[in-house]
Amino acid sequence: MTQHITMTINGQAAIASETMDVINPATAESFAQAPRASEADLNAAVDAAKAAYPAWKALSHSQRAALMVKAGDAIMANVDELTALFTAEQGRPLTMAKEEILGAGMWFKGMASFELPVEVVEETEQRTVEVHREPLGVVCAIVPWNFPVLLASWKMSHALLAGNTMVLKPSPYTPLTTLRVGELLREILPPGVLNIISGGDELGPLMTVHPGFAKISFTGSTATGKRIMASAAQDLKRITLELGGNDACIVLPDVDVDEVAPQLFMGAFFNTSQICIATKRLYIHDSIYDAMRDKLHGLAKALKVGNGTDSDSLFGPLQNKPQYDRVKALMVDAKERGLTLLEGGAVPEKGYFLPLTLVDNPADSERVVVEEAFGPILPLLRYSDLDEVIARANDSEYGLAGAVWSKDIEKALEVAKRLETGTVWINQNLQTTPNTPMGGHKHSGIGVENGLDGLMEFTQAKTIFIPKSKPAA
Ligand code: NAD
Repeated sequence: MTQHITMTINGQAAIASETMDVINPATAESFAQAPRASEADLNAAVDAAKAAYPAWKALSHSQRAALMVKAGDAIMANVDELTALFTAEQGRPLTMAKEEILGAGMWFKGMASFELPVEVVEETEQRTVEVHREPLGVVCAIVPWNFPVLLASWKMSHALLAGNTMVLKPSPYTPLTTLRVGELLREILPPGVLNIISGGDELGPLMTVHPGFAKISFTGSTATGKRIMASAAQDLKRITLELGGNDACIVLPDVDVDEVAPQLFMGAFFNTSQICIATKRLYIHDSIYDAMRDKLHGLAKALKVGNGTDSDSLFGPLQNKPQYDRVKALMVDAKERGLTLLEGGAVPEKGYFLPLTLVDNPADSERVVVEEAFGPILPLLRYSDLDEVIARANDSEYGLAGAVWSKDIEKALEVAKRLETGTVWINQNLQTTPNTPMGGHKHSGIGVENGLDGLMEFTQAKTIFIPKSKPAA
């Protein structure tokens, strides 16, 4: 089959000698072919990025920022085409897919407003000491399938603005929209600055051992993150790892159940729960537990799970077969262990669909509570004591994000401060912006993306001691 969408290597269209199927998860059928890059393609991409690096680094920050803005505009100008492609390969309903494409454009523009500071850390009669920030070289970017375009835009907009060049690899499950973005950005960026190659399971490990990379920026599972860290250790590549989460949301007794329930529901089930920062453990105070559970179950039954091209679908399929199998197995395990499952409405038989499912107050030790499901099964957990629930929320190997809901903002803030997570939302959820650093404690990752902190991760500090007098003759 032909490769309609090509890789980008050195500013040119690149086709691979092999292809791979791209499956539409709403039909479980292949609808397109994507290039399957070889090691030679990877080498060519790294060589191109290396060759482009000196001139790209030599541009002024404002010249690079202007190109980032243009890149963002190009993505936004092609939003309809990109959205249709996104829904076909990722599964998310069109309206919400569109938000991701616009978000990616907005990210390029948002990050462009950051400047790398020159910090004067000492100023005396004898000398000035400045800390400059300089780029690292060629960055290896590896992206998952759940927010393929947005997460790629985070990496591109940070690394390139800071003066690095890049080779980016989308997930084998969602290569097309990102490759298409690469085609659009070919018109804007100098050749070799941004190379995008797609491939199978073998490509990621080939990239992480490649000596041409100075840094790896990875978003994906904790298991893969550990492999990447081990691989990066061989030649001390810098790493940023954005990994899994098992996020707790704590609902205090004073909330208005009817008002809050739909927001809690979307915080857990948006993108069919395939979000690292989705609520994955929902702790509800005993005094409102029954009312909240019934309200959430009503929503699960009423809201439509279906093909993302149907205008009334709010939730799409699981994105791929292995993920579908994993989440289904977790649901079967929960049933077999006698837990009470509260299922949502019927779902299409064809495609990787599962019903939105609540689990009524399982024990904290159940798999469905301990593991990151990354799919539409949400444990509702009863609590009565605030100290106890904070301890339960923190009792996880993850520490990505969390949420607290209460009418009493002061009290919610006190709880937020005690959660061991990289982000906490009060009376909201799933919010990220170019200005807000995001990262996690424990097994949720190393380093952050976004904000000046995120940008700095693509730089090396360079301290320069500048004397005020010339050396004696
Ligand atoms: P994954 O780890 O299976 O794959 C992610 C990417 O890594 C893919 O491009 C894949 O091809 C590549 N890869 C796989 N094995 C590799 C290896 N050995 N070396 C190099 N690359 C390799 O993750 P996934 O299933 O695509 O994504 C879901 C996971 O991502 C969830 O755990 C989720 O929580 C996490 N995630 C985290 C964030 C965050 O910001 N913290 C955001 C989104 C998703």
